[in-house]
Parts: sequence; C-alpha cells; structure tokens
Amino acid sequence: MKLHAITFGCQMNEADSEEMALPLLLRGYQTTSELSEADAVLVNTCTVREHAEHRAVSRIGRLRAWKAARPGRLLIVAGCAAERLGEALRRKFPFVDLVVGARSIEDYPALLDAVLEGRPVTAAGAAPAPSGYVTVMRGCNYACAYCIVPSVRGRESHLPFERILRQARERAERGSREIFLLGQTVNSWKDSAAGKDFSDLLRAVGTLPGVGRVRFMSPHPVFLDERLSAAMAETPAAAPHLHLPAQSGSDRILQEMRRGHTRAQYLSKVRRLREAVPGLHLTTDFIVGFPGETEEDFRQTLSLAEECGAGSAYCSKFSPREGTLAASLEGQLEEAAKEERLARLLAFFEARQREVLEGFRGRRVQVLLETPDTGRTEHNLCARLAEPRRAGELVEALVCGCTRLGLKCSAVP
Ligand code: SF4
Repeated sequence: MKLHAITFGCQMNEADSEEMALPLLLRGYQTTSELSEADAVLVNTCTVREHAEHRAVSRIGRLRAWKAARPGRLLIVAGCAAERLGEALRRKFPFVDLVVGARSIEDYPALLDAVLEGRPVTAAGAAPAPSGYVTVMRGCNYACAYCIVPSVRGRESHLPFERILRQARERAERGSREIFLLGQTVNSWKDSAAGKDFSDLLRAVGTLPGVGRVRFMSPHPVFLDERLSAAMAETPAAAPHLHLPAQSGSDRILQEMRRGHTRAQYLSKVRRLREAVPGLHLTTDFIVGFPGETEEDFRQTLSLAEECGAGSAYCSKFSPREGTLAASLEGQLEEAAKEERLARLLAFFEARQREVLEGFRGRRVQVLLETPDTGRTEHNLCARLAEPRRAGELVEALVCGCTRLGLKCSAVP
C-alpha cells in the first residue's frame, strides 16, 4: 500500500503531514512520490495566502479522476483550508473520505481508524527523513494585521515538554539526524507545569542520543531573550542559524502591522545573539507594500536589511487577505508600486547572498544530506557534495566553491 502526500504552505504543514502520515505508515503503507501508484493521498492545505487555498482546492478537484480509477483508494484532506472551508469542502467534493481541520489534528488518528475500520495493521517500512519535524505549539496569540493564522488556528496551545521530547527521540531513533522544532511563535513555548521554557527545550532536544542538529521555526523577535541566546551558544547541536522575521524596517509600519516589536528592538536582539553565537547566519522575512507604506518607509526596510546583516530573506508583496485587518486598511498600494519595491529588495538580497556564499570558501561545514549529493549546512545553506553518500548522513565537508544558490563541497576524510 502506498501513500502520496501533497503539502501546501509552511513548514508547520510539512510537520503536520509527517505526523499524519505516521498512522498509515504503521499500517504498512509506504510513501511514494508517484500519484498514480498511490492507494492513499493526503492533501494538507494552507490558507495563509488566498492563492495557496485556491491551489489546494483545485488540486482536490483534480483528484476526482485518481479516486475513481480504483475502488478503495483513500483521500484525506487536512490543514488550515480544511478547517476554514470544512463543510463546504465535503459538499463540493463528496469523494473525499476524510476532512480534518487544523484544530482537530489531535483527533486525527481516531478519525482515521474509523475510516479504515477492519483493515489489518502491519509494521512500518518507511525510509527515515533527514529532518524530523516536531510541532511544539499550535495557534498564535498575536494578531498581526496581515495574517489569517490566529483566526484559523486559534490561540496558542503548547504541547507538554515530555511529549515533545518523546516525539523528538522517536524521530531520532527512526534515523533523523536533525530535529526541527516548529510553532507559529515557536520560542514563546513553555510548559509551566514542568517549569520549562523554550531554551530548556532546545538544550534537552539537542542532547538526545543521535541528534546532530536542532533548528526551530518561526521564532518571534519578542521572545528572543538572553536565555535563548545562551542555550543556542551552549548547545553544540543547536544550528548557528536563525530565521527571524522582521517584516518591515519602519516603526510606523511595524506598528500598523501590530508586530509587537520596533526596529531598534529587532536590531538589538540580533546584535546580542551574534555576541553569544559568533558566525550566526541570520535570515528573515519582509513584506513590502503594506497599506500606507511610503517610499521613506520602504527605504527603512532596505536599511534594516543591510544593518541586520541577514544573508537572505523571504520577501513578498503585501496581498490583502479576506478576514484580516490589513485587507480593509486605507492606503492600499498599486500593484506596480509593490512590484517595483519588491524588485529592489530582491536585488539587494541577491547580491547579499552571493557575498555570504563567497565568504564560506575554504571553510569547514557539516552537510546534512537530503539526497545522496545535496543537502544543507548548519547555516542552512544549500550544498552539493562531490562524493555521493547515503541520504540522511551528516557529513563533514570543505567548501571548495560556490554557485549562485549554494556551496560546492568535498567530504573531509
Ligand atoms: S506572529 Fe503574527 S504573522 Fe506570525 S502567526 Fe502570529 S499573527 Fe501570524
């Protein structure tokens, strides 16, 4: 029996897909990248951007023929769009066997059992993933004006310390050398009953047997404190990389966005983290063309991009999302103005990324292989290895050159 997973959206969704695949893998399913040979398809949807939601809905529609081609095929639709559209999806696509919203993921194994009632349960047989994703919290207590996550995923709920450790241990035992801790504001995680905060969690996961690297996503600047900086500095497995969304360099726009931090706070937190973790590679997110953004606001974004020293950024044009505060704000910008600013920011980061990659020439890195010859370094840079190895291995390597997008490496004997 084969399972094909289609995931839209962020790494939270990648983690959820992995979690949702497990009950099927434990029933003897194996993963396949070929839709045609799949007996089960899991579509994990996203609603953060309207475009992603439309793509997911149209993909489900196209699965009608796949489902009809062989009796007994199983189609599961999960995630944020399943939460938002729920009943409408069931009515539109009656051939879907199970619709599970993002908030019901805890009930998913029981729901799946009900759908599969009567099928034999066999042992798992899937290859280990190089990175094991572990969700530590769901939802978000913030209310950024452009973001639909809080209304779809609800307020924060934090998973217990022991449960997260158990999941991380299980993934390491299955062969994942890297553990990726995930949450919308991941570093706000805490378990008050156990007296643990996110820095304790990072230290604990980083010292589990078999874990060679720990990352986390997405941290919020507000919760980047001295304790977390110290944990990153003192946990050898903690990757010297941080993806810390900035979104804008203008205090006025940050306030309109309701981000909860200023430009100066962002910069001061990054500076302190760099003092604790020398060689840290910072990456970030920017939204350009937020309602009311002036040329001067945008210049402040460009100057923050320069000042914070980020090596690359996920830059997007603001697009009004129904159900968010920002969609009804006055001062919406013309598409052409947004595109022009986006192009300038992208040009800045293209040059910056080249500079960062060049700076790695001659340095030693650790590459976690995602295929026999490609992977990511501890700084989260793409790397190609001259001597193919087994996917999933963590390889010591020397950087001997670079391309536009990554490093060329050779394994150190
Ligand atoms: S912190 Fe802001 S952008 Fe991030 S999930 Fe919460 S509301 Fe959305």
